[in-house]
Order: sequence, then C-alpha cells, then structure tokens
Amino acid sequence: MKNHRPLLPLLLAALLLSSCIRQPVPPGPAGSSSASQSSGSGEPSSPALPVWDDARTQAAAADLIALPTSGIVDVSHADYSYGEMTEDLQTLAAVYGEHFSYRSIGTSAAGRTLYVGVLGNPDAQRQVVVSAAIHGREYMTAQLTMKQLEFCLKYYDEGSYGGTSYAALFEQVCFYIVPMTNPDGVMLAQDGLESLPEDMRPLIEECYETEEHEYPVTLDTYLSYWKANARGVDLNRNYDALWEQYDSAPGPQSQRYKGPCAASEPETQAMVALIDSLPDVVAVLCVHSQGEVIYWNCGQQSDAAEQTRDYAEAVAERTGYELLDEQNNDASLSDWAELERGIPAITVEIGSNSLLLPISQFPSIWMETYDLLPLTAAHFLLT
Ligand SMILES: [Zn+2]
Repeated sequence: MKNHRPLLPLLLAALLLSSCIRQPVPPGPAGSSSASQSSGSGEPSSPALPVWDDARTQAAAADLIALPTSGIVDVSHADYSYGEMTEDLQTLAAVYGEHFSYRSIGTSAAGRTLYVGVLGNPDAQRQVVVSAAIHGREYMTAQLTMKQLEFCLKYYDEGSYGGTSYAALFEQVCFYIVPMTNPDGVMLAQDGLESLPEDMRPLIEECYETEEHEYPVTLDTYLSYWKANARGVDLNRNYDALWEQYDSAPGPQSQRYKGPCAASEPETQAMVALIDSLPDVVAVLCVHSQGEVIYWNCGQQSDAAEQTRDYAEAVAERTGYELLDEQNNDASLSDWAELERGIPAITVEIGSNSLLLPISQFPSIWMETYDLLPLTAAHFLLT
C-alpha cells in the first residue's frame, strides 16, 4: 500500500498556485464564435470563463487521465484504499472548498469513519445520493466516483452537459457522495485479516472455514473476493425492503448474508439516516462492478417505474451498458430507496470479465462514465 502523505503539502501548494495563475482558456476550434474577444463594440461582454461544449468537456476528461497520476485522485493502481480516499477528500476540500465539503455520517463496524462528500450548492432544492463500494471487492467504484468528483470540481466553471454548465447544474442539484459505503470490506479485500482489529478476526476465519467454496482456495484469495462488511453481512442485502423474503446465506460469510435483522449494520443505518436527513432526494445512484449492465426494476408502481426506467435509459444510452428490465429484489439500497422512500434508484455495474477489475480497464470505464453526475443532474432538472 503506498503512502503519499509526505507529498500532500507540496501537492496542495502546487494546486493552489496553479489555480491562482489560472491559464486563459484556449481558443475554441476554428470557426467557433470569437465573441468573447470583442470589446467596446456595445455587445454584452461574455463571461470570464466560457462554458465548454460537450466535445471540449470530453477532451478535458481524456486529458485528466492521460497521465493517471495527474490531479488529486491517483488512478494508476487498482487497490485504491480507505486511507487514500480519506486523504483525497481532505485535499479536494482544501483545493475546491468553494464547491465541496465532506463530513462523517457514522462509523463502520470496525470503527472507520464513513464519509459523505457534498458537491455543489447545499441549499439546492434537489439532492442526489451516490453510493459506491458497498461491496468490498468492488473498490474501483470508489476510485471512479472520487475521480468523477474531482473532474466536476476541476471543471466546475468550464465543463458542460447538454449545453448547461456544471456550475448551473450543481447549483440546482446537490450531490451527496458516499465513495466507500463499506470501508471495512474494501480493506479486507485489499489487505486481508490484518486490516481488522484482532477481536474481529476469528469471525472472518470462521467464515473461511464454513463457507462453501467451489474449489480449494487460500485464505488470502478468499478474502480478496470479500463483499460483506467486517461482520460477514452483505450490506446490499441488509436494507428493510422485502428483507424477509430474501433468500439469504444462513450465517456470516463473504457475501449474501442479509444480517440478523433488517438494517442491523451501522453502515446501513448511516445511509438510511443520510437519505432521510435530506429534504428532496430525486435519485439514488448505486455504483457496483461488474457486468456493464444497469438494474432499475424492483417492482415499483407505474409512475415511479417509468421515472426510474427513463433515468436508467439515459445512463444506458450514455455508457453503452445493457438495460435489464427483469424485476430484481434483494433487500438492496436501491430496493429500499425505491420501495420504502419512493426515490428513483438505479444500480450501475461497471467493468467486464473480471470480479476483481484490473486497472487496465479504468480508462475505458472512465470515458463511459466520467459525466454520470452532471447527466443525472440534467436529467432530473428536466423531469
Ligand atoms: Zn456489488
């Protein structure tokens, strides 16, 4: 696990300096309007920071990861850790504090702080909640969500979606982003038993001994595929939405155990409290891996079904992922948001062909998804 803490002050100074001496925006493609150059002709003056069209926003997205270590969130290695995420949240808040803050929403079973990042105007009338890495081994979703956040902040004034500036979108729709909904599970998958306090390790070892394996597997390999939290509860099977009906594993294990009762886990309770604390959550976006598919149907009533499917369809069109219309219920966060709170909620599965996504997939996943947040804001402003 790398540690870039000694570099942090240096990085901060460089970023602050570069934002002080902001370079002028390069001229647009040949033939594009040069109205911003005109002066003294009586024409209204253009804003100091022209809003890019979608092609230029896309070029900036490609630029940001052309060198994977550029910027704040490092996307050059796959094992994006809880420590890195925490440090990146601090740095983003220090550099882009005008449009971003973060805070605790609770504590995980093993005592890690659960963080939410707040992007945009906290007084906006609409909110969107984003949850990533609710399954331990799916930590690339945390890295992706953090990079999306960085991108929106870096290009807050210039970037645009469908002709509307990011600034205008995030002024009207505020994002509450939980990049690592299950930090203990992520660290178990990355660092194994050592990542947990000693008194929590015997339960995990017991899971290894009792869980049925399709083929012989070492403890380290078993843990690298871990999805549950530190108590062997699959957090995305722990929500109070048709929880009784879910056909759970009989007890704690790496996945599919729904817990002793609905919302038994502190991580679940923190998400429920976050969503219930916000005045008008218009969507919940759950990011998972893998499969390049989108789930939206949990048997919601007709109006809600149409609303959710429309959103899922917009994401499918943008990403090229397959829209799955078949009904799916598994006591998940999206089931709960939809069935218990009436909030459109979709589950997006990034990546393909590997349960542990290699970093080599990041660039293509990035280009499919870098603007999911502005897309979501634009979608719910229009509907
Ligand atoms: Zn998952």
